[in-house]
Amino acid sequence: MQDSRRATPRTDHVLADPRLAEAVGVLGIGIVKRAVTLALQRCRADELDPGAVADWAWESLPAAATSMRRVINATGVVVHTNLGRAPLSQAAVDAIQIAAGATDVEMDLESGRRSRRGEAALAALAAAVPSAGGVHVVNNGAAALALVTCALAMGRNIIVARGEMVEIGDGFRLPELIESIGATLREVGTTNRVRLADYESAIDDDTAYVLKVHPSNFLVSGFTSSVAVSELATLPVPVVADIGSGLLGPHPRLPDEPSASAWLDAGADLVTASGDKLLGGPQCGLMLGEASLVDRLRRHPFARAVRVDKLTLAALEATLIGPPPPVSTSLTVTAAQLHARATRICAALDGIGAAVVDSAAAVGGGGAPGVELPSAALAVPASLAHALRVGDPPVVGRVERGRLLLDLIAVAPADDALIVEAIHRAIHATKSSA
Ligand SMILES: *Cc1c(COP(=O)(O)O)cnc(C)c1O
Repeated sequence: MQDSRRATPRTDHVLADPRLAEAVGVLGIGIVKRAVTLALQRCRADELDPGAVADWAWESLPAAATSMRRVINATGVVVHTNLGRAPLSQAAVDAIQIAAGATDVEMDLESGRRSRRGEAALAALAAAVPSAGGVHVVNNGAAALALVTCALAMGRNIIVARGEMVEIGDGFRLPELIESIGATLREVGTTNRVRLADYESAIDDDTAYVLKVHPSNFLVSGFTSSVAVSELATLPVPVVADIGSGLLGPHPRLPDEPSASAWLDAGADLVTASGDKLLGGPQCGLMLGEASLVDRLRRHPFARAVRVDKLTLAALEATLIGPPPPVSTSLTVTAAQLHARATRICAALDGIGAAVVDSAAAVGGGGAPGVELPSAALAVPASLAHALRVGDPPVVGRVERGRLLLDLIAVAPADDALIVEAIHRAIHATKSSA
């Protein structure tokens, strides 16, 4: 019997392969060595010919030095938290590429002097919401709430309706965040009902502001009442309003979702929101409102701890001034357009047991709970779900009534062909492993 060990090449010999040597320069030695180690293990186990070790290692290398994979979101959830919320527009991706090196994020190149950080991104945000006297951007929605708590309510109290004490997801609770900063929450009303008088009687000398939180991920129905921002604005303390989703203006398809403009016009002194929900931009926290208030927040020492990075500023500006980002497109596409795409995909799969079905897609990611977006999906056997998820690129759908639905609402039309290929490969993989 042949001793395969003797035939196994040495690691340094494999690494000397010109393709692998070049890959070290692109991906780093760690990733390339790991691929070579795996290939050598296979060779020792007689699963790989000694002459094929370098080929196999090279083919198994990732495209970039990240283990994150690009995923096709066929879940029918437009803003999917576990898939990274809003996918960026190409314009935002290009902007990030430019800002990645040395960039004039804080320099006026004309005078050579220091300038306001991210001035153009802030100007684009201000232009998009004319009712805001001032704007500021921090790392995420939670950071925006933390900053406003820290700057305005440390050691004081904040009045909030009991029905608006929200848990966002993954155990993150807004009340706990606020109290961890050092403010006291004064809950008013009951789970289902609150009146203006409840707020009124809770106000005292230590009240920093009234906080209005949009219940962005649940619905309360039945015997309910809440107090509108316009009514809260009649109280003798400021109104801080957390809209969550990042809609800057009203959206015709989401009539019950509050927007920054609507709540500012209704009298909120400050609105906070996330940049990577319905705005469709990078993860960030938007703060919009009364100019002197926003200035106080911006100048507070804690602002530095939640300062947004240059890549985010670049992507935010491009999201605001560039073509509509994918989230906006998903919110405007019609069910008929999605049906036409699903039908073409189905035809390209001829004879493979896929069917075009109606689908009820969702906004997801802390926005418009209960709203169903009419969509179209391909229904394929649920047994393909795993193979599609671990394929290249991974395709993630949702299992409904025993079938796997691949909903097209959040899939870029350019990816339709990839879905056809992915289904073909998944069927093949499932057959050969059966
Ligand atoms: C999502 C959300 C937050 C938190 O925003 P992040 O950007 O995830 O930090 C806060 N408030 C509401 C109402 C939300 O929906």
